[in-house]
Amino acid sequence: MKVFNTYTRRKEEFIPVAPGCVRMYNCGPTVYNYATIGNFRAYVFADVLRRTLEYFGYAVTQVVNITDVGHMTSDADEGEDKMAKAAREQKKDPWQVAAFYTEAFFRDIAALNIRPAQEYPRATAHVPEMIAIIERLIAQGHAYVVNGNVYYDVSTFPGYGALSGNTLDQLNAGARIEINPEKRHPQDFALWKQDARHVMQWDSPWGRGFPGWHIECSAMSVKYLGEQFDIHTGGEDNIFPHHECEIAQTEGATGKRPWVKYWMHTRFLLVNGQKMSKSLGNFFTLRDLTEKGLDPMAIRYVLMSTHYRQPLNFTLESVEAGREAIRRLKDFRTRLGEASAAQDNPALEEALEAGRRGFEAGLSDDLNTSAALAALYDMVREVNKLTLSRADAQRALALLERFDSVMGVLSGSEESLDAEIERLIQERLDARKRRDFKTSDRIRDDLKARGILLEDSAGGTRWKRA
Ligand SMILES: [Zn+2]
Repeated sequence: MKVFNTYTRRKEEFIPVAPGCVRMYNCGPTVYNYATIGNFRAYVFADVLRRTLEYFGYAVTQVVNITDVGHMTSDADEGEDKMAKAAREQKKDPWQVAAFYTEAFFRDIAALNIRPAQEYPRATAHVPEMIAIIERLIAQGHAYVVNGNVYYDVSTFPGYGALSGNTLDQLNAGARIEINPEKRHPQDFALWKQDARHVMQWDSPWGRGFPGWHIECSAMSVKYLGEQFDIHTGGEDNIFPHHECEIAQTEGATGKRPWVKYWMHTRFLLVNGQKMSKSLGNFFTLRDLTEKGLDPMAIRYVLMSTHYRQPLNFTLESVEAGREAIRRLKDFRTRLGEASAAQDNPALEEALEAGRRGFEAGLSDDLNTSAALAALYDMVREVNKLTLSRADAQRALALLERFDSVMGVLSGSEESLDAEIERLIQERLDARKRRDFKTSDRIRDDLKARGILLEDSAGGTRWKRA
């Protein structure tokens, strides 16, 4: 498998630090508001990446942070904490705001059929780890204390700028950052801040205060994934300053390089051809879209079907096309369920094999999901031409299910779950018609085990959740 590494700016063979295992960190939400459809592009990408690695047999450990303190309104460390600002505007305290939107985030990712990560560390629960890493940075001369604030001295880290291309020379030449008189260099960034007005405060060796956003990801990724791991992802807007600062902090503290072997970033998302903004009326959270009646699986399809390094233009038409694509795949599945030829078809093997090769070739080429999907649709077209036995159909269904372990669009939502139940009920009716009561009973029992009760009557079979 090849992946494009933002750090080296080229496609590289993916070789994990430890054979067979992948440790991956995804920059997660700042829980001051609902995540937007642009944010979900990055989370769906991370999910598809994880599913692809699992498809290829890796054991993946995935960590997604929850930022609930310290992310300032400017991505540099100026302005107000986004949590504090939201709390002020909503007349709540920041802890309530964080709890509310963290919960909303988990509901949204479940709706998008994003598999749960192994860990979702919250920044506010890891302040001691952040203090420990800041102390290491001070001890090694990478950080300094002024009036209870701690800053990272970027001039002490020669690699600063390697990820983003924003070297200190370039940044200083175009310096438009307001000079904070406490900083030795305009590009220095805060590791620890004091602000008596902030509700979220912790004791530290430098007085009461709160951590900077960048140090959170260094501290939490190292805690759960170790001082060197495989993949770190985020949106392209995270490259600078966030990820550049994370590298300076972590490698500065541990002295181990590289901290992260592969950096992967999703490109931006436009809505109706324009950057999302509240004033243009094209600013969408997931619930804005589901309230319009859009199926979260169709939205997932749109987010995952464009290659992650291409800009994505999200439109209502694209969601409609996504819904149509899923329907075609479900129709294919239904037709396979009806296959009943007496003879196996020798042409099936080649059709499935070509599909599998194309699907895997697409994914192995830097997660080229659009190429993988094209191979899947070619396969569907070829298989549809064939007359199949039940055994043939089972093989095709098994492969489709395997592909869906990556796509995650056929078995995700409530709607698709319902369709699956309908399919099984039909299968049971067919079994009864041919007096195959063993199969019919097995399907009824399987559904019962999933909490689905069947009621047979003269008019047909109805179902309800127990
Ligand atoms: Zn981060």
